[in-house]
Amino acid sequence: MAQIVIIGAGLTGLSAAYHLEQKGFFDYRLFEKESQSGGLCRSVQEKGFTFDFTGHLLHINDDYFRSLIHHVAGLQHFNSVNRRSWIYSQDTYTPYPYQINLRGLPTATIAECIQGFIARKNNTNPKTFYDWVLAYFGSGFGKHFFFPYQQKIFAYHVKKLTASWTGRFVPATSLEQIIDGIMHEREEQSIGYNAHFFYPLSGGISYLVDCFEQSLVNPVYHNFCVERVDVRDKVVHFANGHAEPYEYLITTMPLDNLLKNMREPSSSTMQRAADKLLCNSVVNFNLGIARSDLSDKHWIYFPESRYPFYRIGFPHNFSTALVPNGCSSLYGELAYLHKSRTTVTRQLRTAIKATKDLFHIRDEEVVVQKVLYIPHAYVIYDAWREKYLPNLLKTLANMNVYSVGRYGEWKYASMQEAILDGKAIVDKLLFFPAVTTPFVDHTIQPITQQKEL
Ligand SMILES: Cc1cc2nc3c(=O)[nH]c(=O)nc-3n(C[C@H](O)[C@H](O)[C@H](O)COP(=O)(O)OP(=O)(O)OC[C@H]3O[C@@H](n4cnc5c(N)ncnc54)[C@H](O)[C@@H]3O)c2cc1C
Repeated sequence: MAQIVIIGAGLTGLSAAYHLEQKGFFDYRLFEKESQSGGLCRSVQEKGFTFDFTGHLLHINDDYFRSLIHHVAGLQHFNSVNRRSWIYSQDTYTPYPYQINLRGLPTATIAECIQGFIARKNNTNPKTFYDWVLAYFGSGFGKHFFFPYQQKIFAYHVKKLTASWTGRFVPATSLEQIIDGIMHEREEQSIGYNAHFFYPLSGGISYLVDCFEQSLVNPVYHNFCVERVDVRDKVVHFANGHAEPYEYLITTMPLDNLLKNMREPSSSTMQRAADKLLCNSVVNFNLGIARSDLSDKHWIYFPESRYPFYRIGFPHNFSTALVPNGCSSLYGELAYLHKSRTTVTRQLRTAIKATKDLFHIRDEEVVVQKVLYIPHAYVIYDAWREKYLPNLLKTLANMNVYSVGRYGEWKYASMQEAILDGKAIVDKLLFFPAVTTPFVDHTIQPITQQKEL
């Protein structure tokens, strides 16, 4: 038995393990269902090409995080890159973000955006994403970019999405900026949370995961898939027959799956809650191309419904080591919610054909075609989540089950946040007495008192 059991060797779980060890605490075990660590942050290799589970770019805006990455992975082993991202709509490329770069679009579109912006609704507390767009950008920007794009990426109706996630992800605009962006031709600018990124010189984003894993003293137990969590007896049961008792459970597996697999007195409530948590799934298609000049862009957003994908990116522009000499590569992403496999397969075929047409890729130039599925991709922020999620997480914590990370907390989170989440839960467990519950033996001491740290 280990005092702390960690489920999931994605970035959050690895970071929790790392930070426990940094504090001199080794009485933990980290279990992962796959044969490889990394979770959403993984890369695969084929015929000399490296593909991530869609482009994973490291944005750093926290001092501790920067020093941690440097310490664990060495920032000298990363390219430091200024983003070149574009939007393709109405047969025109405009630099991201749309709301300040209308130059080149049809006059009628520009007029609609300006008129809508001037006439935007005065709503200081918009509840839905739809109302938020109307309040901050107006109907023209909504019609030509925000509504179709968000509808595509979330595969969910924009009137049912809340606005709580928008803050740092959607840059604001002003009339001056809009007019400036119409009058002046410009390349990409340093606007928004993702204007600059780091990317490993080689190995794809898995490099980061490998560095964290290699820095650990304790092993990661791979091929251990959680089948059941018995919170009354505090035991995790795995599909391979192993059972692991714990005092404190840090779990980073998707919360809906955890709730479905928990055994405790209110199991049925938990299982009902699991069905209310919404997220989309993403199909990520990757092409390795025997041509070096495919594109000089990093990625392009596609708001229009005539293209099934919402984004196409070019990994060879993140690092040349991701492709063999003289080659380039491309990834595309399409999102879906509760769709049949047949529908998704059909959409995928259409998407790959549309991509080849758009970038004039001949079949004989395609060296590799690799399709990756991401079942839990983007969390859907809806009213249910807003109302019930905090209590759900609190109830679990009261049972010494700490559900953290992107899908542990069911949130929109970056790699930076995942790694900081891993640290935060360790800080909480090792420095503050854990909250107790009716099922917990009250004689159990907080970890700080049980262990000499
Ligand atoms: C499409 C997409 C693009 C993204 N792009 C970026 C980007 O460019 N930049 C950025 O900073 N972030 C990006 N992110 C976010 C980033 O991937 C995540 O924030 C981060 O990887 C989350 O790490 P995690 O450990 O919390 O979750 P996960 O990576 O989901 O880790 C959870 C782990 O638990 C394991 N697990 C699940 N179920 C079980 C079980 N039953 N038993 C045992 N183990 C289990 C999983 O295999 C996995 O390893 C992107 C995410 C997506 C979906």
